[in-house]
Amino acid sequence: MSILEYLSLKPYNTFGVNSTAHFFTRVRTTADIISLIEDHFQYYKKILILGEGSNILLCNDFDGLVIKNEIIGIELIKEDDEHVWIKSMSGTNWHELVIYCVNHNWGGIENLSLIPGTAGAAPMQNIGAYGAEIQDTFVSLEAIDLKTAETLVFNKEACNFGYRQSIFKSTEKNNYFISSITLKLSKHPVVNTAYGDIQKTLGKNGIKNPTIKNVSDAVIEIRESKLPNPHDIGNAGSFFKNPEVEKAVAEKIKKEFPAMPSYDLPDGKVKIPAGWLIEQCGWKGKRLGDTGNHDRQALVIVNYGNATGEEIRQHALAVQNSVQQQFNILLVPEVNIIL
Ligand SMILES: Cc1cc2nc3c(=O)[nH]c(=O)nc-3n(C[C@H](O)[C@H](O)[C@H](O)COP(=O)(O)OP(=O)(O)OC[C@H]3O[C@@H](n4cnc5c(N)ncnc54)[C@H](O)[C@@H]3O)c2cc1C
Repeated sequence: MSILEYLSLKPYNTFGVNSTAHFFTRVRTTADIISLIEDHFQYYKKILILGEGSNILLCNDFDGLVIKNEIIGIELIKEDDEHVWIKSMSGTNWHELVIYCVNHNWGGIENLSLIPGTAGAAPMQNIGAYGAEIQDTFVSLEAIDLKTAETLVFNKEACNFGYRQSIFKSTEKNNYFISSITLKLSKHPVVNTAYGDIQKTLGKNGIKNPTIKNVSDAVIEIRESKLPNPHDIGNAGSFFKNPEVEKAVAEKIKKEFPAMPSYDLPDGKVKIPAGWLIEQCGWKGKRLGDTGNHDRQALVIVNYGNATGEEIRQHALAVQNSVQQQFNILLVPEVNIIL
């Protein structure tokens, strides 16, 4: 395992930010990461585990060791008449895992097609889209303690999943290397087409009794039409989470903006689309230098070419401030900000 010095991370983050890693290495087996922890960790000021860099904003050069996760593989570990248990190594591309399962007609993650990134980062923020989240099929994950190199198993309960949240993004952030995940998928899948856009796309394509492959294809079509491709324009998807506010707060805003979209949550709170709030503040399609808010989806902050991570962070702060001033709602970043 070679350790490179002063490597540009531009190809390794979807914002396309040109940050330099003081040290950089790739791990291809769990033995690699364990020997790194046991033999080398004391030399580095800090560590950054990197998947495909699709949910990070690198604000500065990284004065530590970046560990690029390339531990790949998919394995069927158990099955019964109804279900399969699939173990994926954490460096496997998430969409490749989805397509592998769809092609075997194992249902449960097809609505999460085309989400960028690795399988190991997926539980970090309980990835979700189009009416599904990874927690719906999640069984457990294996994680290596970055201090002791010990491997631990976390079941679903231990991960404490929430909306774009888990212990790995909160109380245990930077404490573990997630090395594999195990999902339980259905051999007799029931499609989940409750999300309006999926129904519309299936209808437009004349599909009456959709399979999970049809649902996956529909999700891919919707995502390609709505979200900017990071290969064309740097971004990390939704920059902020959708805020969940008290009902009284939402009702107050609705009096002034009757067209405000909102979703009632089981706990009595109300979810408001962050993109709508940002749009009301005039940010949609607005460009300042090389950063801006995308013209089709205001929630996506973009790098038009040569923006630095700090410029993007300052742009995000300006967006956050104006939403707070106009609506008294503090938007919380979904993207992991690396200072
Ligand atoms: C165009 C676009 C669309 C997106 N759409 C969605 C969406 O619909 N839903 C959604 O939920 N997300 C979405 N995202 C965000 C992103 O795809 C996910 O968060 C994804 O899981 C990140 O994976 P990654 O491998 O790129 O993680 P990275 O960006 O490399 O890392 C993210 C964080 O996880 C940590 N990490 C990564 N791997 C490990 C590991 N093995 N062990 C421990 N820590 C680790 C990193 O240190 C970092 O803090 C989108 C992003 C883009 C660019």
